[in-house]
Amino acid sequence: MSKKVIVITGASSGIGEATAKLLASQGNQIVLGARRESRLKEIAEDIKALGGEAVYQVTDVVNLDSVKELAKKAMDTFGRIDVWMNNAGLMPQSLLSDGKVEDWDRMIDVNQKGVLYGINASLDIMRNQKSGHYVNTSSVAGHIVGPGSSVYSATKHAVLAISEGLRQEEAQAGSNIRVTVISPGAIATELTNSITDEAVRKGTEQFYNEFAISPDRVAESIAFAVNAPADAAINEIIIRPSRQV
Ligand code: NDP
Repeated sequence: MSKKVIVITGASSGIGEATAKLLASQGNQIVLGARRESRLKEIAEDIKALGGEAVYQVTDVVNLDSVKELAKKAMDTFGRIDVWMNNAGLMPQSLLSDGKVEDWDRMIDVNQKGVLYGINASLDIMRNQKSGHYVNTSSVAGHIVGPGSSVYSATKHAVLAISEGLRQEEAQAGSNIRVTVISPGAIATELTNSITDEAVRKGTEQFYNEFAISPDRVAESIAFAVNAPADAAINEIIIRPSRQV
């Protein structure tokens, strides 16, 4: 398998961290993006200690200039971008009637606009290379809605819509850019920390404590899509705990 330059947002914990470490262990060059510098530094050092290659760039995906700096870091360091994983996200679920407008704004900004900014910051680069691959993190919630998950589900449905539009446009353009959506179920990460409604958080944590599986399982699925031969695009993977209904 040839070495790839792989940019990952939301790389400071959970699914992003697990994916970065796995793909680095397979010989790829990783560019980590998120807001918490100390975590990014530690993860980059862990990767290097195991003989891998990683750099990081403090990135806030709600800010287009910041996302462009992440792309620039990849280009300045490694000279190309083969895979861009739009993974940063949060899940402050609540009932619409609770009117948590700030949480709605944050989810739309990070989960939805963050994906668009990632595409905007890297699409010209991939088109110039005549190859590339987007991995966009949606969710099982990108397929279903439940009480309390309206806005989170809306942002994750949007990730599916944006990804499918991007897939069709790039296939039509013949740009050799692949698009993969990864849609996880309950995964044991820090995601539930973003829930601001205490009752919802406790209920969700209870569910996660019972069912959630390791982010390594998700990373393995992503590696499968990334390592697929260039003429085959794995367009979506849904992965959830075997016992999750
Ligand atoms: P974590 O909370 O562990 O990771 C979320 C990541 O997003 C962190 O690295 C965080 O870094 C980053 N992030 C949040 N806001 C921003 C921002 N404004 N700019 C840049 N980075 C940001 O949770 P997961 O690993 O679970 O989440 C990763 C993705 O997986 C999310 O999109 C989530 O919706 C999705 N997902 C998760 C599921 C689960 O059960 N865990 C199920 C389905 C989907 P920092 O705070 O340092 O910026």
